[in-house]
Amino acid sequence: MDSAIANNKKYNQGDSEVIYKKYWAADPIERRKKLLPFFWSTIESNGQLYGNRNYGNKIDNANPYWFSYPGYNEIFTGYPDTAINSNSYPPNPHTTLLEFLNNQPNYKNKVAAFGAWDAFDRILNEERGKFPVYSAFDLTGGPKPSATENTINAMLKDSYKPFGEAECLDVFTHYNAMHYLQTKKPKVLYISYGETDEWAHSGQYRDYLDAAKMVDKWIQDIWNYVQTDPFYKNKTAIFITTDHGRGDAKKDEWTSHNNKIKDCNQLWMAAMGPGIQLKGEVKTGLQLYQKQFAQTMATILGLTFTCEHPVAEKINLNRD
Ligand SMILES: [Zn+2]
Repeated sequence: MDSAIANNKKYNQGDSEVIYKKYWAADPIERRKKLLPFFWSTIESNGQLYGNRNYGNKIDNANPYWFSYPGYNEIFTGYPDTAINSNSYPPNPHTTLLEFLNNQPNYKNKVAAFGAWDAFDRILNEERGKFPVYSAFDLTGGPKPSATENTINAMLKDSYKPFGEAECLDVFTHYNAMHYLQTKKPKVLYISYGETDEWAHSGQYRDYLDAAKMVDKWIQDIWNYVQTDPFYKNKTAIFITTDHGRGDAKKDEWTSHNNKIKDCNQLWMAAMGPGIQLKGEVKTGLQLYQKQFAQTMATILGLTFTCEHPVAEKINLNRD
C-alpha cells in the first residue's frame, strides 16, 4: 500500500481510513503481509519470490510495449515478437507453451485456460490450440452443465459488468477455474485475473487493493486444494506472475502502463512446488526477463519447449 495514493482524494474512494485500517503498517515488510498474506507466509516459507529491486533482483519485460497482449505473448511463447504491438492483435501466430503441452501425448486434452479478459481467445489462439480457453462471459459445461456450472453461468450472465463485455469480474473466472480443477483434473491450468488492472485504470485504489488481496486468498485456496487432493498432492507446482508493471504515485502514473510511463517494464514472479528449492524472497542481484518464463515453466514439468520460433532460456530456479 502506497500512502501517497491512499491519501489522494482523487483515488481513495472517499475513505482513506478503511484503506489504512486494512492495509497499513509503518514497516514495509509488515505492510506487504497485510496485502498478500499467503505470498508472505506460505510462498515465502516454501517457494521463491523474485523482483524486489531494492536488492537488485530485477525482472523486466523484454518486449518494448509494456501492456497486456505483448506481455502475455511473451510469457507464453518465450518470444517477444515486436510485431505483436496491440491488444487488438489477431489470433497469435506463434505456438504458446500451452499449445505445445496440449500436443504432447502426456498432456493431450489435459490443458485448460481461464481468463477474465476476452482477449485470451486470441492470445492463446483457442482455435488452433485445441484446448479450452474460457474467457470473460464464456459459459462453461457445454451442452450438459453441472449444477455448479449452471449456477455460475446464470450469475455470470446477470452480474454487474463494470468493464463491459470484454472482461468479467474475477470471482467468476476463479470459481469456474476451481470447479474445472476439481472435476476435470487438468494437468496444466492457467488462470488470469484482471481486476487489479481494471480498478487501477479507473483510479479506484481501494478496489485495487481489495482485488489484489482477494487473488492472494484464491491462490491460497488453489494451493490448499491441490495439496489435499491425491491426484495433485506433492506433484503440483504453481507459477505466478504478471503481464506488465505500472507507474507509481508520482504524476498520477499508477493508474496506467505503457512505454511512455517510467518503470512499467518492472515485474515480479513467484513459484512453489516439488523440484523448486525453498529460497523465499530472492535477494541476489539478477537481471531476468519475462521471455524466460515459458521455458522455466516447461522445465518445472521436466520438458523442453521447442517450436517454430526461438524460445528464451529458462531461469534456473535451483541455482545457488
Ligand atoms: Zn491495463
